[in-house]
Amino acid sequence: MPDTIFDKILRREIPARVAYEDEHVLAFHDVNPQAPVHVLFIPKTPIATLNDVQPGQAELVGRLVLAAAAFAKREGFAEAGYRTVFNCNQDGGQSVYHIHLHLLAGRRMAWPPG
Ligand code: 5GP
Repeated sequence: MPDTIFDKILRREIPARVAYEDEHVLAFHDVNPQAPVHVLFIPKTPIATLNDVQPGQAELVGRLVLAAAAFAKREGFAEAGYRTVFNCNQDGGQSVYHIHLHLLAGRRMAWPPG
């Protein structure tokens, strides 16, 4: 799989504002935030798109979701609410081909998304 900007962030070759980290997951604030809080949760294992997730990686994807929910609770906006999104491929709006869970919070979200 080709290197992405997120691999460089994982290797600390380019800076990012880290929001959470454990053995499997890194979360950092989006450089171009679409809400007052906009954090990206990525697996440390590179997976290009949601289409490439293997059954044996179900736990890893679950870890992204659990990390995002724990972050929301820790930061105090879990009850108010938030939005989580995986964009997949061109029509889904994906621009970085290393899966990432967007967490957006701090404003009322619209539906349907654009
Ligand atoms: P996608 O469009 O693939 O769903 O989301 C990629 C996200 O990565 C975008 O929201 C974009 O702003 C963010 N992003 C791209 N390059 C960087 C970077 O170098 N640093 C950080 N923190 N975010 C980035």
